[in-house]
Amino acid sequence: MTVEKIALITGANKGIGYATARQLGELGVVVIVGARDEVLGKQAADALAADGITATALRIDVRDPDSVAEAARTIERRYGRLDILVNNAGVAGAFTGTPGEARAADLREVYETNVFGVVTVTHAMLPLLRRSPAGRVVNLSSHVGSLTLQADPGSPLAGVNMIAYQSSKTALNALTLAYAKELRDTPVKVNAALPGVVATDINHHRGRRTPAEGAAIVVRLALLDETGPSGACLADDGPLPW
Ligand code: NAP
Repeated sequence: MTVEKIALITGANKGIGYATARQLGELGVVVIVGARDEVLGKQAADALAADGITATALRIDVRDPDSVAEAARTIERRYGRLDILVNNAGVAGAFTGTPGEARAADLREVYETNVFGVVTVTHAMLPLLRRSPAGRVVNLSSHVGSLTLQADPGSPLAGVNMIAYQSSKTALNALTLAYAKELRDTPVKVNAALPGVVATDINHHRGRRTPAEGAAIVVRLALLDETGPSGACLADDGPLPW
Protein backbone atom coordinates (compact mmCIF):
# COMPACT_ATOMS: atom_id res chain seq x y z
CA MET A 1 0.00 0.00 0.00
CA THR A 2 1.39 3.45 -0.93
CA VAL A 3 1.11 6.00 1.84
CA GLU A 4 -0.13 9.39 0.67
CA LYS A 5 2.23 12.30 1.06
CA ILE A 6 1.04 15.50 2.72
CA ALA A 7 2.36 18.81 1.34
CA LEU A 8 2.02 22.37 2.58
CA ILE A 9 2.73 25.12 0.06
CA THR A 10 2.78 28.69 1.35
CA GLY A 11 1.43 31.40 -0.93
CA ALA A 12 -0.34 28.75 -2.99
CA ASN A 13 -3.38 30.79 -3.99
CA LYS A 14 -1.70 31.89 -7.23
CA GLY A 15 1.46 31.92 -9.33
CA ILE A 16 4.18 29.31 -8.91
CA GLY A 17 2.75 28.17 -5.55
CA TYR A 18 -0.60 27.32 -7.12
CA ALA A 19 1.06 25.55 -10.05
CA THR A 20 3.16 23.56 -7.57
CA ALA A 21 0.05 22.59 -5.61
CA ARG A 22 -1.66 21.47 -8.81
CA GLN A 23 1.28 19.39 -10.04
CA LEU A 24 1.85 17.74 -6.67
CA GLY A 25 -1.90 17.07 -6.39
CA GLU A 26 -1.97 15.51 -9.86
CA LEU A 27 0.76 13.14 -8.67
CA GLY A 28 -1.43 12.00 -5.77
CA VAL A 29 -0.04 14.22 -3.03
CA VAL A 30 -2.54 15.59 -0.50
CA VAL A 31 -2.20 19.33 -0.88
CA ILE A 32 -2.61 22.02 1.75
CA VAL A 33 -2.96 25.42 0.11
CA GLY A 34 -1.39 28.00 2.44
CA ALA A 35 -2.78 31.47 1.79
CA ARG A 36 -2.90 34.64 3.85
CA ASP A 37 -6.32 35.49 2.43
CA GLU A 38 -8.80 32.86 3.57
CA VAL A 39 -11.17 33.46 0.64
CA LEU A 40 -8.43 33.24 -2.00
CA GLY A 41 -7.03 30.12 -0.35
CA LYS A 42 -10.42 28.42 -0.37
CA GLN A 43 -11.03 29.40 -3.99
CA ALA A 44 -7.70 27.86 -4.99
CA ALA A 45 -8.31 24.65 -3.01
CA ASP A 46 -11.83 24.38 -4.46
CA ALA A 47 -10.48 24.79 -8.00
CA LEU A 48 -7.96 22.00 -7.39
CA ALA A 49 -10.59 19.79 -5.76
CA ALA A 50 -12.88 20.33 -8.76
CA ASP A 51 -10.19 18.64 -10.85
CA GLY A 52 -10.02 15.63 -8.54
CA ILE A 53 -7.09 16.79 -6.39
CA THR A 54 -7.24 16.27 -2.62
CA ALA A 55 -6.78 19.86 -1.48
CA THR A 56 -7.71 21.98 1.51
CA ALA A 57 -6.82 25.53 2.44
CA LEU A 58 -5.24 26.85 5.63
CA ARG A 59 -4.84 30.51 6.45
CA ILE A 60 -1.13 31.19 6.76
CA ASP A 61 0.35 34.66 6.77
CA VAL A 62 4.07 33.93 7.02
CA ARG A 63 4.54 37.29 8.78
CA ASP A 64 2.06 36.29 11.48
CA PRO A 65 3.53 33.60 13.78
CA ASP A 66 0.14 32.94 15.40
CA SER A 67 -1.38 31.97 12.04
CA VAL A 68 1.59 29.70 11.35
CA ALA A 69 1.39 28.03 14.78
CA GLU A 70 -2.35 27.51 14.35
CA ALA A 71 -1.74 25.91 10.93
CA ALA A 72 0.89 23.57 12.44
CA ARG A 73 -1.59 22.50 15.14
CA THR A 74 -4.24 21.82 12.49
CA ILE A 75 -1.84 19.77 10.36
CA GLU A 76 -0.77 17.77 13.42
CA ARG A 77 -4.37 17.09 14.39
CA ARG A 78 -5.41 16.07 10.87
CA TYR A 79 -2.39 14.16 9.63
CA GLY A 80 0.10 13.76 12.51
CA ARG A 81 3.00 14.69 10.23
CA LEU A 82 4.08 16.71 7.20
CA ASP A 83 6.03 15.22 4.27
CA ILE A 84 6.65 18.28 2.09
CA LEU A 85 7.00 21.95 2.96
CA VAL A 86 7.31 24.39 0.07
CA ASN A 87 8.37 27.82 1.32
CA ASN A 88 6.97 29.64 -1.69
CA ALA A 89 5.37 32.83 -0.31
CA GLY A 90 7.46 35.78 -1.40
CA VAL A 91 7.36 39.45 -2.26
CA ALA A 92 9.43 41.78 -4.41
CA GLY A 93 8.85 44.79 -2.15
CA ALA A 94 7.99 48.34 -3.08
CA PHE A 95 11.55 49.71 -3.12
CA THR A 96 12.91 50.37 -6.62
CA GLY A 97 15.87 52.66 -5.90
CA THR A 98 19.60 52.02 -5.98
CA PRO A 99 21.40 50.20 -3.15
CA GLY A 100 22.75 53.53 -1.89
CA GLU A 101 19.25 54.94 -1.62
CA ALA A 102 17.88 52.00 0.35
CA ARG A 103 17.02 52.33 4.01
CA ALA A 104 16.97 49.44 6.45
CA ALA A 105 13.16 49.59 6.43
CA ASP A 106 13.14 48.92 2.67
CA LEU A 107 15.01 45.68 3.20
CA ARG A 108 13.14 44.80 6.39
CA GLU A 109 9.82 44.88 4.53
CA VAL A 110 11.04 42.23 2.09
CA TYR A 111 12.96 40.17 4.66
CA GLU A 112 9.85 39.89 6.86
CA THR A 113 8.31 37.63 4.20
CA ASN A 114 11.19 36.17 2.18
CA VAL A 115 13.54 35.43 5.08
CA PHE A 116 11.92 35.71 8.54
CA GLY A 117 8.67 34.24 7.20
CA VAL A 118 10.58 31.17 6.05
CA VAL A 119 12.18 30.84 9.49
CA THR A 120 8.78 31.13 11.20
CA VAL A 121 7.16 28.50 8.98
CA THR A 122 10.12 26.11 9.01
CA HIS A 123 10.46 26.35 12.80
CA ALA A 124 6.76 25.54 13.24
CA MET A 125 6.67 22.70 10.70
CA LEU A 126 10.00 21.01 11.39
CA PRO A 127 8.70 18.79 14.23
CA LEU A 128 6.03 17.51 11.81
CA LEU A 129 8.57 17.03 8.99
CA ARG A 130 10.80 15.03 11.33
CA ARG A 131 7.92 12.58 11.75
CA SER A 132 7.84 11.92 8.00
CA PRO A 133 9.81 8.97 6.61
CA ALA A 134 11.07 11.32 3.85
CA GLY A 135 10.58 14.98 4.82
CA ARG A 136 11.36 17.49 2.08
CA VAL A 137 11.70 21.28 2.34
CA VAL A 138 11.87 23.33 -0.85
CA ASN A 139 12.68 27.03 -0.64
CA LEU A 140 11.80 29.26 -3.61
CA SER A 141 15.02 31.05 -4.37
CA SER A 142 16.13 32.95 -7.45
CA HIS A 143 19.05 33.21 -9.86
CA VAL A 144 19.39 36.83 -8.72
CA GLY A 145 20.27 35.60 -5.20
CA SER A 146 23.45 33.89 -6.40
CA LEU A 147 26.52 35.73 -5.09
CA THR A 148 28.64 34.04 -7.75
CA LEU A 149 26.50 35.44 -10.59
CA GLN A 150 26.23 38.84 -8.90
CA ALA A 151 30.02 39.07 -8.60
CA ASP A 152 30.67 38.06 -12.23
CA PRO A 153 30.74 41.11 -14.54
CA GLY A 154 30.20 38.76 -17.50
CA SER A 155 27.00 37.29 -16.06
CA PRO A 156 23.65 38.17 -17.64
CA LEU A 157 22.67 39.39 -14.16
CA ALA A 158 25.58 41.83 -13.90
CA GLY A 159 23.29 44.81 -14.42
CA VAL A 160 20.64 43.67 -11.93
CA ASN A 161 21.01 45.36 -8.53
CA MET A 162 17.77 45.02 -6.55
CA ILE A 163 19.30 45.18 -3.09
CA ALA A 164 16.24 44.18 -1.06
CA TYR A 165 14.92 41.28 -3.14
CA GLN A 166 18.30 39.93 -4.23
CA SER A 167 19.86 39.94 -0.79
CA SER A 168 16.70 38.36 0.66
CA LYS A 169 17.14 35.42 -1.72
CA THR A 170 20.86 35.23 -0.90
CA ALA A 171 19.87 35.05 2.78
CA LEU A 172 17.32 32.37 1.92
CA ASN A 173 20.11 30.36 0.27
CA ALA A 174 22.08 30.64 3.51
CA LEU A 175 19.06 29.44 5.50
CA THR A 176 18.72 26.49 3.11
CA LEU A 177 22.29 25.42 3.82
CA ALA A 178 21.92 25.95 7.56
CA TYR A 179 18.85 23.69 7.80
CA ALA A 180 20.37 21.11 5.45
CA LYS A 181 23.49 20.93 7.63
CA GLU A 182 21.47 20.46 10.80
CA LEU A 183 19.33 17.76 9.20
CA ARG A 184 22.16 15.97 7.37
CA ASP A 185 21.81 12.79 9.44
CA THR A 186 18.01 12.67 9.23
CA PRO A 187 15.68 11.74 6.33
CA VAL A 188 14.75 15.42 5.91
CA LYS A 189 16.24 17.10 2.81
CA VAL A 190 16.31 20.86 2.35
CA ASN A 191 16.96 22.44 -1.05
CA ALA A 192 16.54 25.71 -2.91
CA ALA A 193 14.59 25.72 -6.18
CA LEU A 194 15.15 28.21 -9.00
CA PRO A 195 12.02 28.51 -11.14
CA GLY A 196 13.55 30.82 -13.77
CA VAL A 197 11.89 34.04 -14.86
CA VAL A 198 8.19 33.23 -14.60
CA ALA A 199 5.33 35.52 -15.62
CA THR A 200 3.43 36.17 -12.38
CA ASP A 201 2.13 39.10 -10.34
CA ILE A 202 5.48 39.48 -8.56
CA ASN A 203 7.16 40.77 -11.74
CA HIS A 204 4.04 42.23 -13.40
CA HIS A 205 4.00 39.22 -15.71
CA ARG A 206 7.30 40.09 -17.34
CA GLY A 207 8.68 36.54 -17.21
CA ARG A 208 9.17 34.25 -20.19
CA ARG A 209 8.16 31.05 -18.39
CA THR A 210 4.74 29.86 -17.27
CA PRO A 211 4.01 29.10 -13.59
CA ALA A 212 3.72 25.42 -14.56
CA GLU A 213 7.22 25.49 -16.08
CA GLY A 214 8.57 27.26 -12.99
CA ALA A 215 6.90 24.75 -10.67
CA ALA A 216 8.53 21.72 -12.32
CA ILE A 217 11.83 22.02 -10.41
CA VAL A 218 9.95 22.67 -7.16
CA VAL A 219 7.97 19.47 -7.62
CA ARG A 220 11.12 17.53 -8.49
CA LEU A 221 12.81 18.63 -5.28
CA ALA A 222 9.65 18.01 -3.24
CA LEU A 223 9.56 14.39 -4.41
CA LEU A 224 13.29 13.55 -4.27
CA ASP A 225 14.01 10.00 -3.27
CA GLU A 226 16.55 9.19 -0.57
CA THR A 227 19.46 9.33 -3.02
CA GLY A 228 18.70 12.96 -3.90
CA PRO A 229 20.74 15.95 -2.74
CA SER A 230 20.23 18.12 0.31
CA GLY A 231 21.67 21.62 0.64
CA ALA A 232 21.57 22.18 -3.12
CA CYS A 233 20.39 25.07 -5.27
CA LEU A 234 18.83 23.70 -8.43
CA ALA A 235 17.21 24.95 -11.60
CA ASP A 236 15.70 22.80 -14.36
CA ASP A 237 19.04 22.67 -16.13
CA GLY A 238 21.08 21.77 -13.03
CA PRO A 239 22.75 23.28 -9.99
CA LEU A 240 23.60 26.96 -9.71
CA PRO A 241 26.62 28.23 -7.75
CA TRP A 242 25.58 29.93 -4.48
P1 NAP B 1 3.14 35.71 -6.99
O1 NAP B 1 2.25 35.23 -8.08
O2 NAP B 1 3.12 37.17 -6.64
O3 NAP B 1 2.83 34.83 -5.70
C1 NAP B 1 3.35 35.15 -4.45
C2 NAP B 1 2.54 34.39 -3.41
O4 NAP B 1 3.10 34.68 -2.12
C3 NAP B 1 1.07 34.85 -3.38
O5 NAP B 1 0.25 33.73 -3.11
C4 NAP B 1 1.05 35.80 -2.19
O6 NAP B 1 -0.21 35.93 -1.57
C5 NAP B 1 2.01 35.06 -1.28
N1 NAP B 1 2.43 35.87 -0.15
C6 NAP B 1 3.06 37.07 -0.14
N2 NAP B 1 3.23 37.48 1.12
C7 NAP B 1 2.70 36.53 1.92
C8 NAP B 1 2.58 36.37 3.32
N3 NAP B 1 3.02 37.31 4.17
N4 NAP B 1 2.01 35.25 3.80
C9 NAP B 1 1.56 34.29 2.96
N5 NAP B 1 1.62 34.38 1.63
C10 NAP B 1 2.19 35.50 1.13
O7 NAP B 1 4.67 35.39 -7.32
P2 NAP B 1 5.42 34.05 -7.79
O8 NAP B 1 6.27 34.42 -8.92
O9 NAP B 1 4.48 32.92 -7.91
O10 NAP B 1 6.39 33.85 -6.54
C11 NAP B 1 6.44 32.67 -5.77
C12 NAP B 1 7.85 32.54 -5.22
O11 NAP B 1 8.77 32.31 -6.29
C13 NAP B 1 8.37 33.78 -4.48
O12 NAP B 1 9.11 33.39 -3.35
C14 NAP B 1 9.29 34.42 -5.51
O13 NAP B 1 10.29 35.23 -4.91
C15 NAP B 1 9.86 33.18 -6.17
N6 NAP B 1 10.46 33.41 -7.49
C16 NAP B 1 9.69 33.91 -8.50
C17 NAP B 1 10.28 34.12 -9.74
C18 NAP B 1 9.50 34.65 -10.91
O14 NAP B 1 10.11 34.92 -11.96
N7 NAP B 1 8.18 34.82 -10.82
C19 NAP B 1 11.64 33.84 -9.93
C20 NAP B 1 12.39 33.33 -8.88
C21 NAP B 1 11.78 33.12 -7.66
P3 NAP B 1 -1.25 37.13 -1.97
O15 NAP B 1 -1.98 36.65 -3.19
O16 NAP B 1 -2.12 37.23 -0.76
O17 NAP B 1 -0.43 38.35 -2.24
